[in-house]
Amino acid sequence: MTLRLLPLSIRTRLSLWYGGVLLGILLVFSMVGYSVLHFGLIQDLDASLLTVAQVLRDANVSAGGPASEAEVETILRELLGAEFYTKFFRFLDPEGRPAPPPARPGSQPLLLSPHARANAIRGRETFETVRIAGSDEDVRLLTVPIVRDGRVTRIVQVGMSFQRADAALRRYVKALVVLIPLGVALATVGGALIARTALRPVDEMARAARRITAEDLGQRISLRGTGDELDRLAETLNEMLGRLAATFTEMRRFAADAAHELRTPLTALKGGIEVSLRAARSADAYRQVLTSSLEEVERLIRLAEDLLLLSRSAAGPESPRGRVELEPLLLELFDVGVRLAQGTGVSVRLNDVTPATVRGDALALHRAVLNLIENAVKYTPAGGKVELSLATEDGHASLAVQDTGIGIAPEDAGRIFEPFLRLDAARARETGGAGLGLAIARAIVLAHGGTLALRSEPGAGSSFVVRLPLA
Ligand code: ADP
Repeated sequence: MTLRLLPLSIRTRLSLWYGGVLLGILLVFSMVGYSVLHFGLIQDLDASLLTVAQVLRDANVSAGGPASEAEVETILRELLGAEFYTKFFRFLDPEGRPAPPPARPGSQPLLLSPHARANAIRGRETFETVRIAGSDEDVRLLTVPIVRDGRVTRIVQVGMSFQRADAALRRYVKALVVLIPLGVALATVGGALIARTALRPVDEMARAARRITAEDLGQRISLRGTGDELDRLAETLNEMLGRLAATFTEMRRFAADAAHELRTPLTALKGGIEVSLRAARSADAYRQVLTSSLEEVERLIRLAEDLLLLSRSAAGPESPRGRVELEPLLLELFDVGVRLAQGTGVSVRLNDVTPATVRGDALALHRAVLNLIENAVKYTPAGGKVELSLATEDGHASLAVQDTGIGIAPEDAGRIFEPFLRLDAARARETGGAGLGLAIARAIVLAHGGTLALRSEPGAGSSFVVRLPLA
């Protein structure tokens, strides 16, 4: 069985992260604090032990011999007050044997480790932590030699219980055990509240975005005017909505235009058939109706094919992006152009041709340039000429189709590539175009990462330039 974790909201994740990181930091700080406190307490113990040992040594030395226990006790009590009773002390001779004054009644025996003794003989003091036999209590033990005339005459041992230090450390740990979870819990709740406040605009944006459907893309997500990341996100979403709205409008217009284009030949077809059915006709009359119907059907087929080609071209090249030699492609199209221009009085010429290779779909590129040549021949009156050329510059191939035809007004140059656009409907209808030729050519060139530019002067001619990145 696989365990599926519930998807956590950003708010919960942020709060958990916040709490987790804080817990980690507090634990590290507490451990460091514990070590510092522990070290400090030992330092304090050692300082006290040293003072006591000093007092004992001085008492012993100034007494000029073994000080009596009563003497030592009096001095210590005067000096250290009640604290004195938490300490143990004894004198030893250099061999480590207990020396007078003997250990106080009730005081635990202290140990003289070989290490401490060796140090004492060398005149050095030793701090140790030892466990008193028969109890589970740790004692900090200081062993100090008493040197007289350059000789170790006695050894003083002073011990001090760890009880107080342990108690202080235990209080510290107890406080942490309560404070850390409390602090982490408070911080997590606080973090959750902050995250909720910070993310509330995101929820609002999500709700607003959900309300916007394809039918009312005119709606926008309101900005809060703070200029922060969320405002920028809202702006980006609004821009996207704008682009979507424009695309939807374009699609609707395209569908309406397509329907309109389809309706015209279908209406003509229907009219012809209805008229011929109204009365009995001669075989010739039927043939005539059928012939004109066939023309309309052919127009419909051409239109359907063009529409299909346009949508496919916009989706990108079909065949894998192979290498396409533009020179032979242009020579082939030149032949087609010459054939198209036969009987129109238009001369088709080939200008400078530089070999160029691009990546793409040869058939699609052939179709795009053919549309330009067809238009150039179509919209150039008798006596005019159409020139084809191919050049390379800045890593691009430029294929130009130039004519001396009727030209295109500057205000039309921008919309000439829109589907179903014909500048002069009657004239275009005559020539049989549905206004898809340039739209198809542009879609193909764009899908190849290129551009299709128009330079034209009404009455003087037009020049369409296809620019494609070289392979
Ligand atoms: P069509 O099938 O009508 O030729 P296009 O998309 O190829 O459709 O062209 C759209 C319109 O652009 C044409 O109807 C025509 O008015 C204009 N046009 C295209 N090419 C030329 C040209 N070489 N010279 C003048 N006008 C042109």
